[in-house]
Amino acid sequence: MIEITFLGSGGGRFITITQFRSTGGFHIAASRNIYVDPGPGALVRSWRYKLDPRKLDAIFVSHRHVDHCNDLEVMVEAMTGGALKKRGVLIASKSVVYGDEEHTPAISQYHINVLESVHIPEPGSKISIGDEELLITPSKHSDPTTIGFRMRTSLGDISYIPDTAYFDDLVRWHDGARVLIAAITRPRDMGIPYHLSTDDAVEMLKSMEKKPEVLVMSHIGMKMHFANPYKEAKYIENVTGVKTYVAKEGFRITVNKKEIAVRTLRPARFV
Ligand SMILES: [Zn+2]
Repeated sequence: MIEITFLGSGGGRFITITQFRSTGGFHIAASRNIYVDPGPGALVRSWRYKLDPRKLDAIFVSHRHVDHCNDLEVMVEAMTGGALKKRGVLIASKSVVYGDEEHTPAISQYHINVLESVHIPEPGSKISIGDEELLITPSKHSDPTTIGFRMRTSLGDISYIPDTAYFDDLVRWHDGARVLIAAITRPRDMGIPYHLSTDDAVEMLKSMEKKPEVLVMSHIGMKMHFANPYKEAKYIENVTGVKTYVAKEGFRITVNKKEIAVRTLRPARFV
């Protein structure tokens, strides 16, 4: 059994600064615990849904935009028992570790020093974490070093498409995944550069030879939020036949051999 729990579903500057949707990224519990894109609120939301961040084994950060990496250092501190134990793996874009022309690194040398390993992989690289393997996938985003992944598991593949423009090759990298989590920021007819819209999601799914069992829309931007992402999900589902969900804080997908179940967790009372 693999459990994927969302600690938010928001993306883009306006949803992030208003927290109309929370922006904590998501947690994968497979043979190891992996946190993906710890945006603002990742630490607080982890505790809210009883996902102890001290039990993390790895953190994946797709790129150096604040809605994806804001809580990285504090999550590293949790993973390393308060930066007292050398443990855990970081897999991140080059911009996260080194910064770029516009950004400082998202992680200090102090935090890098307490990690067991740091990977800055190129698309096509493979990294084993426990029984799973991450195949690193490309993106075309304003941070040109942005990476996604396709996680190979004994229960099928789980793909993550972070911020990206649509490009034909995207289909090839993610075709046949059982669960597809994608940053679909904009609604129909309102696409913007470097991000996927509902129209792109439809085109991508239609082009796939083996469509996913489940598509999860995440990284909901302000225009998508007010256009009603649930309506957009229904449209994608009607046009492509792929069961489509909108992520939200507490949304959990449970992947078993035979079925994929979803539910929304209640927040713990103490936060
Ligand atoms: Zn971005």
